[in-house]
Amino acid sequence: MENIEYIKMRALEVGFTVSANLDCTTIKPMKEVREMCSSNKCNKYGKNWACPPGCGTLEECTRNISNYKYGIIVQTVGELEDSLDYESMMKIQGKHNQMFKSMTEELREEYPNLIALGAGCCLQCEECTYPNSVCRFPQKAISSMEAYGILVSKVCSDNNIPYYYGAGTISYTGCFLLD
Ligand code: SF4
Repeated sequence: MENIEYIKMRALEVGFTVSANLDCTTIKPMKEVREMCSSNKCNKYGKNWACPPGCGTLEECTRNISNYKYGIIVQTVGELEDSLDYESMMKIQGKHNQMFKSMTEELREEYPNLIALGAGCCLQCEECTYPNSVCRFPQKAISSMEAYGILVSKVCSDNNIPYYYGAGTISYTGCFLLD
């Protein structure tokens, strides 16, 4: 795809630490990842249209992804004072999510069928409408990579980028699938 180099450069300009090519054929949604969602450790299972089960079955997510060949992976990497430094973790994740949202909006203008898969559940609305009424902004809702059954560390290694940047760091990863 001829625009991919420009899009990767834009991602760095927006503020991501890393942007790299994503070969969409390396994405293999796994039922084990969805099972982690259903164990509800994050307390979001069944509470958001962009999370399981609201985001569709694993088969539906796999079918959606199979229509895409090209994409990019983006990462925000930050430093922590120690492994209990939740304040920095939240700050770095907040920054990642804000940049991801802004890049999604920018890319959707040129790629209306874009699939944007971020880190964490959709935060567009203060309170999600799930399951009582339809999603307020289906064009803006962002699922996580895990919600689609993606093992993030594996997709990173299959696309030759690190997932772990060493002791005292944390990274948040997202991807954009472009048609
Ligand atoms: S856009 Fe709003 S209603 Fe739709 S999934 Fe996100 S939080 Fe829920």
